[in-house]
Amino acid sequence: MRLFSIASGSSGNAVFVGEGSTNILIDAGISAKRIKEGLSTIGLSLKDLSAVLITHEHIDHIKGLSVLARQGQMPIYATDGTIGAILSSFSGKGIDPGLFKTVDKDRAFEIGELSCLPIGISHDAADPVSYRFFRAGSADPGHDSSMAVMTDLGTYDDYIVDSLSGVGALLLESNHDVRVLEAGPYPYPLKRRILGRYGHLSNEGCGELLTRLMEKRPGALSQVLLGHLSRENNYPELAFQTVKQIADQYTASHLGKGLQIGIAARDHRSPEIEVK
Ligand SMILES: [Zn+2]
Ligand SMILES: [Zn+2]
Repeated sequence: MRLFSIASGSSGNAVFVGEGSTNILIDAGISAKRIKEGLSTIGLSLKDLSAVLITHEHIDHIKGLSVLARQGQMPIYATDGTIGAILSSFSGKGIDPGLFKTVDKDRAFEIGELSCLPIGISHDAADPVSYRFFRAGSADPGHDSSMAVMTDLGTYDDYIVDSLSGVGALLLESNHDVRVLEAGPYPYPLKRRILGRYGHLSNEGCGELLTRLMEKRPGALSQVLLGHLSRENNYPELAFQTVKQIADQYTASHLGKGLQIGIAARDHRSPEIEVK
């Protein structure tokens, strides 16, 4: 199973997950043209997409969905609350409502060779979820050969740690550095939103969640891509160093294997991560 992001950040998100001949896109927050360019880097076109999974209705996750759906006519999976919010939004105009399929939190569903598990997250949207992927037939939390995409969460709790327990590789939000955000130019209410329970995960929060996952199932997690980095309140090198330092502290004191950390950039394709 392999995963890479075509784009990641508040200017637009689209992540690819593939297993065998099953090809899934998580979110369509960039133009259909850029999504097609991203797919073409692995020799795929729109007709090869098995489905699009949407995490929530914010514009940076659905901006390209209408054009993509019209061109590809692929099924679109999302929670009921997200579907309603998309269809009543400007970006949802022109999407055939018949393409939507409803998913429920904590109930895995299969698309071809992949089993997809929606995980509820704390974010200021109608009914947001993240997704974890298993090989079809093995949707059992605690399974090492699984991957996940988790961004847009203000906080995490035991439910999130349990839901991701045993994941082998994931794209995880590392949105901002708290000090850079606090000192930066954003208006106070926006700073409060980002830092709040329904906002975004900081670099430190990302490192701490990764540590919780390594504690929960030692040896399972081997690769992470840091995603949804803020343009104004973060730097790729700062996110990398902060998360690496926290993760290294854990691996050094527990003789754990090192965590491979990469960056999912805003405007170009990330490296690919993979589980066997
Ligand atoms: Zn977002
Ligand atoms: Zn969002």
